[in-house]
Amino acid sequence: MERDRESSRARRSAIQLQVKTILNCVQRFAGFVYSDVRLHSRKGKPESIEIAVEPHRGIPRRCSHCRRPAPGYDCQPRRRWLFVPLWGIPTWFCYAPRRVECAEHGVVVEYIPWTEGKRPLTCSMMAFLARWARLLSWLETARVFLTSWEAVYRSVEWFVGWGLAHRELRGVESIGVDEIHWGRGLRADSFLTVIYQIDAHCRRLLWVGRRRSQTTLRRGLKELGEEVVKGLRFVCSDMWKPYLQVIADRAGQALHVLDRFHITGHLNQAVDEVRRAESRRLQVKSKTAARQLKHMRWPLLRRGSHVRGRARQKLNALLASKLATARAWELKETFRHFWHYKSVLWAGAFLDYWCYRAMRSRLEPMKRVARMLRTHEPLILNWFRAKGEISTGAVEGLNNKIRVVTRRAYGFRTYEAMEIALYHTLGRLPEPESTHRFR
Ligand SMILES: [Zn+2]
Repeated sequence: MERDRESSRARRSAIQLQVKTILNCVQRFAGFVYSDVRLHSRKGKPESIEIAVEPHRGIPRRCSHCRRPAPGYDCQPRRRWLFVPLWGIPTWFCYAPRRVECAEHGVVVEYIPWTEGKRPLTCSMMAFLARWARLLSWLETARVFLTSWEAVYRSVEWFVGWGLAHRELRGVESIGVDEIHWGRGLRADSFLTVIYQIDAHCRRLLWVGRRRSQTTLRRGLKELGEEVVKGLRFVCSDMWKPYLQVIADRAGQALHVLDRFHITGHLNQAVDEVRRAESRRLQVKSKTAARQLKHMRWPLLRRGSHVRGRARQKLNALLASKLATARAWELKETFRHFWHYKSVLWAGAFLDYWCYRAMRSRLEPMKRVARMLRTHEPLILNWFRAKGEISTGAVEGLNNKIRVVTRRAYGFRTYEAMEIALYHTLGRLPEPESTHRFR
């Protein structure tokens, strides 16, 4: 008895495994059957695997436009679609598509569930490549999976296109708008305008467009749709003029917030300008005095409490020196208190006090920041009104992630490819249905 059971188990586990069996397990297409799997070799080396697909006799063919059953018309020559490589061997689906005569659409090719349009790749392969292209560069993906860069590009394009068409934009309440430098030089074309969702529950890239003009932002908001724009409660941006106007114009109901990280950026830039000018002045006068400012760029720009060790000693010496740079640094550091206020009123009072001190500092770059802050005071104070509602630091974080992608620019060749890569990595897009998940 016991032995009988044992031997039947052994017999069961010895069933010959065929590729067809696996395919039927992981990916079955209604109306089609896997008829044959063949390995083609040359000089003893495996070259390709061909999986022949045939129509299921009992199931009617369907129109590729409306997917309704339709009577047959004729049969086209056999075609091949690239499938996920098995054991590192390029693998193809082979099938002779039939044509149907649809009552509504006339004579068209039948609906073929493993592909879309005239693409030479199966959806499984496209989804497979697209998922890997998030982890590897596109070129690496192509090499590892025995295909071309172009095939990876087309796959990601299809994947992103699907995601953009199916993404949910309801519930977007806060957006961050920013410009990103891309490519070389300062031509208009080397900037991007990005729109992020920065709600506490969801941070993602919503839109990206070339250049940083009013037209760009208008186009972006238009593509997000009237409903999204009208539903916005917070818009976060830098003090970049064209953006301010468009936001006031299109999303007037939303509270416009000037972002903390941008203001810190302006302050740092001003400190650096003071340092550079002073360094030049000192070099003319005496070499020893100039040494105090050497290699001090980063210690000066970092948050004061984060500077440690030798850099700290040098910084302390510099601060004791009464150089203009030391005064600029002190102003920058004092401004950090501003962000800790809870009441808008007190924050406003601090801002006035800070600007008053900066205006008397006799440091032109610092005065310029003070004037800029005064001009935009209401928008800056909005930061306190939006506290807790928007995810602060989200814009900065997403910007950094974008730079990681754009720096891989050598892999992208064109602007369009990079745009697709950005949506792919930062858009949090939904993915095509799970029947295409195969890895
Ligand atoms: Zn039809």
